[in-house]
Amino acid sequence: VGEENADYLVSLIRTTPGFPKEGINFRDFMPVLADPRGLSILIDALAKALPVSVDDFDLIAGMESRGFLIGVPLALRLGKGFVAVRKAGKLPPPTKKVEYSLEYGTAAIEVEDDAIKPGDRVLIVDDLIATGGTAGAARTLIEEHGATVAGYSFVMELTGIPTPPDLAAYKRSSLVTMP
Ligand code: AMP
Repeated sequence: VGEENADYLVSLIRTTPGFPKEGINFRDFMPVLADPRGLSILIDALAKALPVSVDDFDLIAGMESRGFLIGVPLALRLGKGFVAVRKAGKLPPPTKKVEYSLEYGTAAIEVEDDAIKPGDRVLIVDDLIATGGTAGAARTLIEEHGATVAGYSFVMELTGIPTPPDLAAYKRSSLVTMP
């Protein structure tokens, strides 16, 4: 996307230290979406930085909720369909659900049974990868549908956090790395 565009994108990411709790630098990409040039650069950059060839996946799965905001325009751009990976309890049955551990407690994500077919190759998208826990849970959920993960696309990746070994085996792209 060019250095100038990349710098512009990064300049729009807003950091809030201590949110949602002490020690966390919250990285907010909403100002990128609010900016016409930023939004255009963002979706272009994601489409150009795909971790695999566009022919190597069938659909895009976006993580609730910021993964929805980039997953749909990216899917439209690439001629793919979109699947919402939702927080548990929002979707009507039948669904598949996966629980995973957070730093404190657990979370659960859910996908409608018919949204992903056996054999589908799925690109998972989200705004940010930190510990990789969410990304790993999404993979488990997709595999429970008999589908496979083709790769991961993120806008931001936090440095200094080791990637879980199970995740390191998958192709991924991140537009920006930050502490
Ligand atoms: P993780 O499962 O630890 O990789 O966390 C990734 C998920 O949590 C993504 O859906 C992010 O939107 C969110 N997240 C984690 N850390 C941050 C952060 N520092 N700033 C903004 N979002 C974050």
